[in-house]
Amino acid sequence: MNTGAPESFGLADGEAEARRLDAADPGHRHLFHVPPADGGRHPEAAYLAGNSLGLQPRATRDELAADLAAWSRLGVEGHLEGERPWLPYHELLTAPAARLVGATPAEVVVMNSLTVNLHLLMVSFYRPAGARTRIVIEDSTFPSDSYAVRSQARFHGLDPDTTVVRLRPRAGEDTLRTEDVTAFLAAEGDTVALVLLGGVNYLTGELMDIPAITAAGRAAGAVVGWDLAHAAGNVPLALHDWDVDFAAWCSYKYLNSGPGALAGVFVHERHLGDADLPRFEGWWSTEAATRFEMTPVSRPPATVEAWQISNPPIFAMGPVRTSLELFDAVGMPALRERSLRLTGYLAGLFDEVTANRPLTVVTPREPERRGCQLSVRIGAGSAAELAKRLRHEHGVIADAREPDIIRFAPVPLYSTFHDCWRAAEALAATVAEVNR
Ligand SMILES: *Cc1c(COP(=O)(O)O)cnc(C)c1O
Repeated sequence: MNTGAPESFGLADGEAEARRLDAADPGHRHLFHVPPADGGRHPEAAYLAGNSLGLQPRATRDELAADLAAWSRLGVEGHLEGERPWLPYHELLTAPAARLVGATPAEVVVMNSLTVNLHLLMVSFYRPAGARTRIVIEDSTFPSDSYAVRSQARFHGLDPDTTVVRLRPRAGEDTLRTEDVTAFLAAEGDTVALVLLGGVNYLTGELMDIPAITAAGRAAGAVVGWDLAHAAGNVPLALHDWDVDFAAWCSYKYLNSGPGALAGVFVHERHLGDADLPRFEGWWSTEAATRFEMTPVSRPPATVEAWQISNPPIFAMGPVRTSLELFDAVGMPALRERSLRLTGYLAGLFDEVTANRPLTVVTPREPERRGCQLSVRIGAGSAAELAKRLRHEHGVIADAREPDIIRFAPVPLYSTFHDCWRAAEALAATVAEVNR
């Protein structure tokens, strides 16, 4: 794949080159607040931690203020009146969220937080029976996912140590091979009730082959769900066409909706309206048209909204709405193209920096096997200590995962080639060269 990134310029006269690339390909940085680093010592950070917490769109504050003003002006009438009535407010988020993940609007809803949604989805889709009880995750899954599936196993009276299968890379390798995952599912899939992997691994930045693994899992008779925390807003997705059973993602990483922002859920059309699927219900699980009839028995709609439980926090939905409008305006195809250019550029610089230093990029080299994040393993010292020095001494904000990984994510909406250059420069200046 041609990433469009030039390959042969280095750190030496790289800054001018980075500036030239930015002039030609400016992105949408002007729509975001870019924070300073280290208490203002660096007026604008090279912010490469958007995979951990996305930056605030400039539009968010006014949009949120408008929703607050409706409450002060309308009181309880705001449920049905005003520019954006609260009763159907979540519907404003549905179509853009569906476009983002490649789904129909009936398949997507924004609600709760990610791990809560994983549990609510597992209530429906983790149904251990007979010999088919196991849950397959990746060994380097985000801890919350591991805790969630282990507690689900226990909830069903099963031993988490034998129920949860953790897939590991081959010895000496850092990332999972698709053929190893599909081979496992072909060999042992009849014992697997649920496959629940990260679409983009949070630690290594590896983009999994979602359609191939979904097909293999389903062919083996398992349910296949995806945690898209690091995929939504980072890589193009086509959940409906890929026949994914369910998926969930958060909105505070690439989706720039603020800390703890409301999360998204996908349930494939073939499961919608299935009265045999167990679900936990509340008054927001019933049809909106009859919700206020206050009947004792719910009538769930044949959409993913049947998985909703409570009336949603409107002031938490505002930032998600604002952000999704931005994604809609720019479009994932254009973002992915810019992402390939930015990350390709950073990868080229990292090749130079890592060549004679105790540093290794563990993210796959092939652009189609990664999103925007590059993860660097450090051969000595503490990752957190190195991240602190990058921030203090160079204004570069990257994310450390102890013991030995630092993650750099040039985000196509607001990161620049100059940010990438600063990160590579800072790494080169901070980590001593060795002969190897
Ligand atoms: C960020 C992240 C989470 C965080 O879970 P919350 O419920 O949003 O606190 C969970 N899983 C993965 C894979 C993540 O990357």
